[in-house]
Amino acid sequence: MSRPPSPKSAFQSAVCIVGNGAIAKTAALGFAQAGHSVTLLVPPSGPAPAQAADTGWDARVYALNHTAHTLLSSLKVWGALDGARIAPVDTMVVNGDGAQAGDLAFDAFGAHVGALAWIVEDRNLGQALDAALKFAPNVEVVSARATSLAAGIEHALIELDNGATIRSELVVGADGGQSWVRGQCDIGIDYRSYHQRAVVTNFSCEKPHHGAAFQWFTGADGIVALLPLPGDQVSLVWSAPDALADTIMNESLGELAVRLATYADEKLGTLRPLQPEVVKDVPLVLIRPHALVAPRVALVGDAAHVVHPLAGHGMNLGFADVADLLATIAAREEQRGLGDERVLARYARARKEDILLMQLATDGLARLFAANIEPIRIARNLGLNLLNKLPMLKRRLMTHAMGK
Ligand SMILES: Cc1cc2nc3c(=O)[nH]c(=O)nc-3n(C[C@H](O)[C@H](O)[C@H](O)COP(=O)(O)OP(=O)(O)OC[C@H]3O[C@@H](n4cnc5c(N)ncnc54)[C@H](O)[C@@H]3O)c2cc1C
Repeated sequence: MSRPPSPKSAFQSAVCIVGNGAIAKTAALGFAQAGHSVTLLVPPSGPAPAQAADTGWDARVYALNHTAHTLLSSLKVWGALDGARIAPVDTMVVNGDGAQAGDLAFDAFGAHVGALAWIVEDRNLGQALDAALKFAPNVEVVSARATSLAAGIEHALIELDNGATIRSELVVGADGGQSWVRGQCDIGIDYRSYHQRAVVTNFSCEKPHHGAAFQWFTGADGIVALLPLPGDQVSLVWSAPDALADTIMNESLGELAVRLATYADEKLGTLRPLQPEVVKDVPLVLIRPHALVAPRVALVGDAAHVVHPLAGHGMNLGFADVADLLATIAAREEQRGLGDERVLARYARARKEDILLMQLATDGLARLFAANIEPIRIARNLGLNLLNKLPMLKRRLMTHAMGK
């Protein structure tokens, strides 16, 4: 699918998308299907091939919301996912901590939808996107290391390390939290470590989960989430303080299952590791770039925002970026090009509120539930209980989280 360029190659396309994750591939499909020529610049190692032969369950899963569902459906990617490996989320149950632990529950029936979200494996998503890209007209995948990006009046120029170049009207930076594109544009960032790592792995559960996603704000031990997988299986995302994450990663998954019993036993019964070798941990940080756009450049996905995964929304925000960028560009006046400053400014304005809200909500909750002070513990649990009794506010929160 991809090829390394020869030294004198001079690629030219309407859009150059830099990145190799789900957001970059979705953006490439979106622009191509809108009739624009696309160069997708991936690292020299090439697109990470999804391991087709591996039938085990991927430890990296995403709760995708309705925004993601709508965008991926319109690009004919949702239908190409392996549906037998997707679990709809019918209920979400959020539990507080301490003696007077509050709780908060949402369900699809109350929200008048078929599912609140869908749990999709990273590999399933990657395979569907790769398959769609193979047949996409107008997409050239180039695997190389970029060395410089310069924005001119007519176009942006990316130079590659062997002297080849990519010329485009617009560059989309979809190259993740450490974005090279963002750095080339001198866009500064606010960065903070949460001093937590997310430990992810999968378990079978003794009792059926009935499509429920469970989350426990435990206070000192961080945030435990168990998301439904097809069958009697669940996927763990434990945002644990660094020291606890170290301990967990040095223990067996059997020991981890024992730790989880404190939270999960009543609802899910005994948990058993699905594949003892599949456990990963990811450092958790907040990254807030000071701008979403620069001359001839738009940032999307984690290049534009990295948030705490407690709400399961980083990828969903990225899909919303892509949808808004495509819509803003489609609605531009005839005389304006793809990289037009005003068009890009409209994209930045369109995304501002959604991103800020998610940053404030996830960061605020992460800090609120990390505080180990009794009055704060009481207040946060009262808050959960109160919210649970306010149907209007609850519905508004849920509607926003679902991306509807
Ligand atoms: C534990 C955990 C659980 C999560 N759960 C959820 C969830 O349930 N729901 C949800 O919506 N979100 C979730 N997220 C967030 C989600 O994982 C991210 O927001 C999402 O993966 C970001 O996708 P991306 O494509 O923007 O970036 P990435 O996935 O980081 O991809 C960036 C890509 O760019 C490539 N790249 C980097 N540099 C260059 C370069 N110079 N040139 C070319 N390519 C380059 C990289 O190789 C990589 O492929 C979770 C995050 C964590 C940590």
